[in-house]
Amino acid sequence: MRGAVLYGPRDVRFEEREVPKIIKPTDAIIRISATCVCGSDLWPYRGINPILQPTPMGHEYCGIVEEVGSAVTSIKPGQFVIGSFFASDNNCPNCQIGYQSSCQHKEFVGDAQAPVVRIPLANGTLVATPDVPSADMIPSLLTLSDVMGTGWFAADAANVKPGATVAVVGDGAVGLLGVLSAKQMGAGRIIVMSRHESRQKLAREFGATDIVPERGDEAVTRIKDLTAGIGADSVLECVGTQESMAQAIRSTRPGGSVGYVGVPHGVELNGEKLFYAHVHLHGGPAPVRRYLPELIDLVWNGKINPGKVFDLTLPLDQVAEGYRAMDERRAIKTLLRP
Ligand SMILES: [Zn+2]
Ligand SMILES: [Zn+2]
Repeated sequence: MRGAVLYGPRDVRFEEREVPKIIKPTDAIIRISATCVCGSDLWPYRGINPILQPTPMGHEYCGIVEEVGSAVTSIKPGQFVIGSFFASDNNCPNCQIGYQSSCQHKEFVGDAQAPVVRIPLANGTLVATPDVPSADMIPSLLTLSDVMGTGWFAADAANVKPGATVAVVGDGAVGLLGVLSAKQMGAGRIIVMSRHESRQKLAREFGATDIVPERGDEAVTRIKDLTAGIGADSVLECVGTQESMAQAIRSTRPGGSVGYVGVPHGVELNGEKLFYAHVHLHGGPAPVRRYLPELIDLVWNGKINPGKVFDLTLPLDQVAEGYRAMDERRAIKTLLRP
C-alpha cells in the first residue's frame, strides 16, 4: 500500500509502506474511509518541529474494521468505527475520570494518512456507529476523531453554559468547530476573532454573532467593548502562540474560564499577571474518546454538521497538495480519500 511520509520541511511523499498487521491481541486493523490533514501536521511540515527521519503522517481516521486481535470484543469486522489520535484502554484511573488522552497506556496513532491503519487498544479506543453511514455523513464523522472533539473540549474546558458570552481565539478548523460546540452548548453570544472572509462566513454559519478582526491589545479592547467592559465568560484558545494565549486570558472576565487546545509553541505565562487575572485555565490534548458516543449521536441525528470545515477534498495520492493548500491558507482543512 502507499501512504504519506514526511521527509523534511514541505516535503511530503506518497510512497510504498508496509501493510499494517495485527501485532498484539488488543489491536484492530481498519480500512480507512476518509482521513485528513490536521493544523498540527503543519508544525513539522513547516520544519518548526524538527523531522529526524522519514515519518509516516496522519492521526485522524474513520473506517471499516477489517480484522481484530483475539482479545478484541467491543467491535467486529464490517463495523464502521471512529477513534482518537491517542489510543487508550478506557479503563485506567485517568480514563475513568474522562481523561483518555492521559491514559496510563496511551499510544499515539500517527500513520493514518494511508488506506489501512493498525489501532492499538481497540476495545478502549474505537467506537462503532449505529450502522455503516452514508457517504455524505463520513466527513462529519471523521471530524470526531480529533478536530470536532478538540473544539468540543475547548468549549467544555471553558465551561460554556447556556446564555454565556463566548470568545474564540483562532479561526482554523478547531476554532470554527469551537464556535459550533459553544452554540450547541447554548451560548448566547459567540465572538470570533478572524480576519479571513471565508472563515468568518463559516463561523457565522456555525453560530458566531460577532466578528473581531483586530489582534493583540486592540482585540482585547474590542472584546471588552462588546461585553460592557467585563470580558467574556468563556474563552476558547485554539492557536497555541504567546500572543493568542495572552489575548485569551485578557479577554476573559474575572471568574471566567479559558479552554486552551492550541498546541503551545513558545507560550510562557507570567505568574503575577495570571494571579490577578482571576481566571480558570483548563486545556491540553483533548480527551476525544470521552465525547465520541455523544458526538456520534449528534452527527447521526443530523443535529450538527461539522464536516463543513472540509473545504478541499482530494484523493489520498494528492496528499502533498493537501498539505500545500493548508500551509498557504488556501484551504481550511483537507479531506483525503484513499
Ligand atoms: Zn489533529
Ligand atoms: Zn487508560
